[in-house]
Amino acid sequence: MTNPNHQLADAIREVTAAVQKALDDGHRSRKIDADDLVEVLLSIADRLDPPVREPNHVQFPCPKCGEVDADRLVWQDDEFVRCSSCGTIYCPGN
Ligand SMILES: [Zn+2]
Repeated sequence: MTNPNHQLADAIREVTAAVQKALDDGHRSRKIDADDLVEVLLSIADRLDPPVREPNHVQFPCPKCGEVDADRLVWQDDEFVRCSSCGTIYCPGN
């Protein structure tokens, strides 16, 4: 059941499909250069082994401005958090 190549093949297919779509939509030049190649290879690697996201990101971002940086979201008491970016006070998870 477990084919170690399956995940790799899927990652390559997904990235290839994304590149093809970008080509079709005209977002990407048909002339490939070294930067494109690097980008594609890194995209495949990221799908197989996703980079660790910012560890400081909170589970409940600010509902108004979308702030996710825990350093900018300050607990006021046990219930409410104040967003330092926009000043909104909210109750995470509600
Ligand atoms: Zn905010």
